[in-house]
Amino acid sequence: MAELLSIADALALVLGRAHALDAEEVAVADAAGRFVAESATAPVDLPPFPSSAMDGFALRAADTPGTLRVAGRVAAGAPARSALEPHDAMAISTGGVVPDGADAVAPVEVVTEENGAVAVPATAPGANVRPRGSDIAAGAEVVAAGTRLGPAQLAVLAAAGIAAVRCVRRPRVAVLPTGTELRQPGATLRAGEIYDSNGLMLAAQVATAGGEATRFDAVADDEAATRAAIERGLEADVLLTSGGVSVGEHDLVRRVEAELGVEEIFWGVAMRPGKPLTFGVRGRSLVFGLPGNPVSSFVCFELFVRPALLAMQGAADPRPRYLVGRLATPARQNPRDSLLRSRIRVAGDSVLLEPLTGQESHMIARAATADALVFVPSGEGELAAGAPVEYLQL
Ligand code: AMP
Ligand code: MG
Repeated sequence: MAELLSIADALALVLGRAHALDAEEVAVADAAGRFVAESATAPVDLPPFPSSAMDGFALRAADTPGTLRVAGRVAAGAPARSALEPHDAMAISTGGVVPDGADAVAPVEVVTEENGAVAVPATAPGANVRPRGSDIAAGAEVVAAGTRLGPAQLAVLAAAGIAAVRCVRRPRVAVLPTGTELRQPGATLRAGEIYDSNGLMLAAQVATAGGEATRFDAVADDEAATRAAIERGLEADVLLTSGGVSVGEHDLVRRVEAELGVEEIFWGVAMRPGKPLTFGVRGRSLVFGLPGNPVSSFVCFELFVRPALLAMQGAADPRPRYLVGRLATPARQNPRDSLLRSRIRVAGDSVLLEPLTGQESHMIARAATADALVFVPSGEGELAAGAPVEYLQL
């Protein structure tokens, strides 16, 4: 691990190998969180007809102010009525079709209706009418390729009457914790054992990144068992191992992977936590060897694995999205770039970041109270309280 890569160089190497997967047809009802492979266009104008923005009376603005005969009523969902005659008004519900001839709607609150007529104050042309196509015109793009479908994007597809979209296939991700000391939660620990927390954590991170995780039982630091488990894991699009990538005699992962034909792209990143991260490829499979310490695993996932999974889904910009805030307390620099687990506090119009006490890479309990990773560039000094810093929101 003589040469440590910078975080940026390591990410570039990962993204250089993370190719978009195939697309498939997905029902919009099942597409939450998916990335669209092709831009979707509206087959219809939205709204599809001039529609009333208010409960009120459709009329000709030129007839106002004045008293107009109520010629009929238009409920939402009813077909268009015949054209409005001059000096007539039509009662109309929100979402009702504004009849031909009408160019405005006077809200019910401003009129007085009596004996089949309404007294209407001066009303501007276009008032409370949503013109046909005013949200989006037929043929226009409603969701661009590479967009992740969240609630609003699903809504516009539904509004446009689209029932299915082409989405990139979700990456299949094998999650394999390694370590003889690992037991599953619920089991009784013997001396020297700990519970496997990385398996669940990484599977949950995979899910939030749009992947489909398969969790393997933790494998002991035994060569044959490790080989068998890694061999199965390599059938996935992405294999995530945790542990066994440092320099100890029980750290088998890299050697076994090399024997199984994994080409190592890098080992070692100049970051804290996460230095022992390794990344390789076999065929089209990406292979990440995450460090065993839970916080290191967590941070490496956010900085490298999440971007890879997003890129495999065709995300327009898969890279981590750093925001800018200010340090609430001073932060000492380190010879490596650090990612400090921190709390976000909004004070007036600035975002303050409070690094947690307890930044060691085994301290998952403390990390679990963080909602940000603050980037502290390598150096020998200290960043002062109030210094601008970049951070990732968790
Ligand atoms: P390693 O990278 O295998 O040397 O592991 C580094 C540290 O992380 C050791 O203290 C391990 O016990 C711990 N560790 C490894 N894997 C896990 C896991 N899946 N869950 C929790 N802790 C782990
Ligand atoms: Mg280990």
